[in-house]
Amino acid sequence: MAASKHTPYFESLEALQAGDCPVCVTSKRSVDRYLDTLLYEAANDPGVRARTRAAHGFCRLHAWQMRRHGGSLEMAIIYRDVVRDAAAALEGATYVRGTRLSPRALAEAVDRDRPNNATAPLVEALSPQGECPACRIQLKAEAMNVDVLLEHLADEKIAAAMDQGGSLCLPHLRLALQRVRGREAHDLLLERARRSYSALLADLDEMIRLSDYRFRDQQLGDVGDTWITAIARVAGEDGLA
Ligand SMILES: [Zn+2]
Ligand SMILES: [Zn+2]
Repeated sequence: MAASKHTPYFESLEALQAGDCPVCVTSKRSVDRYLDTLLYEAANDPGVRARTRAAHGFCRLHAWQMRRHGGSLEMAIIYRDVVRDAAAALEGATYVRGTRLSPRALAEAVDRDRPNNATAPLVEALSPQGECPACRIQLKAEAMNVDVLLEHLADEKIAAAMDQGGSLCLPHLRLALQRVRGREAHDLLLERARRSYSALLADLDEMIRLSDYRFRDQQLGDVGDTWITAIARVAGEDGLA
């Protein structure tokens, strides 16, 4: 196979060999690459600008990730659109008065968690009207990268890396189970997931057992960091929405 070292296949293999979820790692990289180009595009392309304006820039996670990409002028331009809209909405807002004894007013009076109807139009005007552009890219990248792994399940190197403990995180295992086609790929996926999750369970059991006061003098050794592996396995790697 004449493939460059940066193809998703090699990125997936490397992630598996490092014990990380390949879809988390490759998707995070896809989002990072996208954020770099998007900064430039959003400042110059009216279509992209319209999307970032509607979405209020980016979701919390991606907005702060974006900050690490630099581009302070581009970010100022993207966020000025949103701040301008917010300022206009605040300027034009009025208290939407209802009758004091209406059923809605009574319901609001007794239920603190019920949103105030009088401020509903302003809340709506201050709410994003579109999805975070980076989240959209992340979703596409996750689907594509899951498919790359599914295509290469029978690959020797991928198989070896998965046998050594490399595994999909739970969110990406669910996605893989949704996207897998055919009995053979399904069986391979399931067999490796079973093995990897039961091995992790055994490590967690061992870590908790050794942490018991009766074993205080024993070193936790290899299983000491198992709780971090468990977080990554259940929640996915740090840095994805
Ligand atoms: Zn993952
Ligand atoms: Zn996002």
